[in-house]
Amino acid sequence: MAKVIAEMLIDAATMELPDTKTLKLKWPEGYDVEFKTGQFITFYWPDTPTYKRAYSLSSCALDRGFYEVTVKREGKMGTRVVDWAKVGDKIGVLPPAGKFLPVLEPNRHLICIAGGSGVTPFRGFVREATRRKLDTKITILYSVRTTNDIIFQREFLDFAAENKNFTFLVTCTRLIPEDPWTGHRGRITADWVREQVHDLPNTVFYACGPNPLVEATEKLVLEELKVPKGQMKVEKWG
Ligand SMILES: Cc1cc2nc3c(=O)[nH]c(=O)nc-3n(C[C@H](O)[C@H](O)[C@H](O)COP(=O)(O)OP(=O)(O)OC[C@H]3O[C@@H](n4cnc5c(N)ncnc54)[C@H](O)[C@@H]3O)c2cc1C
Repeated sequence: MAKVIAEMLIDAATMELPDTKTLKLKWPEGYDVEFKTGQFITFYWPDTPTYKRAYSLSSCALDRGFYEVTVKREGKMGTRVVDWAKVGDKIGVLPPAGKFLPVLEPNRHLICIAGGSGVTPFRGFVREATRRKLDTKITILYSVRTTNDIIFQREFLDFAAENKNFTFLVTCTRLIPEDPWTGHRGRITADWVREQVHDLPNTVFYACGPNPLVEATEKLVLEELKVPKGQMKVEKWG
């Protein structure tokens, strides 16, 4: 496929949390690219075309006409996007790439482990599986500091209500003991992950986000749970 670099208009800019923003990027006339859920796009501001950064699609391959990415205020590009990107701005976009793809097959169980902003591609996984009414089971195990840090909480709860094959589980690591949260607390542990596994040979594990978090998850899944390497897919952000 030819490399199509396109300028896209920001069609919507939505604050998910005080430090996290979703951009909806409108495809220009005639742009028609094949891509897969779970891939990332790379973009740059037209005034600084050599500074490019990758962002996982938080939308899915069924969404045509636009891409969505969800960005945390982190580093130079993350800060510019969250603090300055607005509707009507133009951004240069390289076509989707990457192999962090959901195995959306019947009888499969995808266990998606995320911390903080690493949850972004999993929104695309669940959106596609729910819209297509697939039998594939998806479980998100999501670690955040407090209940104020859950990205896409409303959407994931709505997907869970609509899709009986989707489970959304959150653990909070830094809540005060008096907090009324009745869900899981503390870090993601091997025991908590093991509780979700019902058919190990058909389970695929996913982890995405900043390197230290993904590496810790890899260690937990591959070394503590002794899952074969071929059953885990990771996307490290650097
Ligand atoms: C395939 C891929 C997909 C990505 N998808 C997303 C995404 O969906 N959302 C997103 O916000 N970022 C994502 N990133 C990270 C993004 O590309 C930028 O690195 C990030 O926005 C920081 O901007 P910068 O590189 O200009 O920061 P710099 O000024 O160069 O600083 C980068 C620093 O921030 C750290 N870092 C980068 N991203 C994060 C983060 N989200 N949380 C904590 N620390 C971080 C890096 O380890 C480094 O220390 C992705 C990266 C890759 C490679």
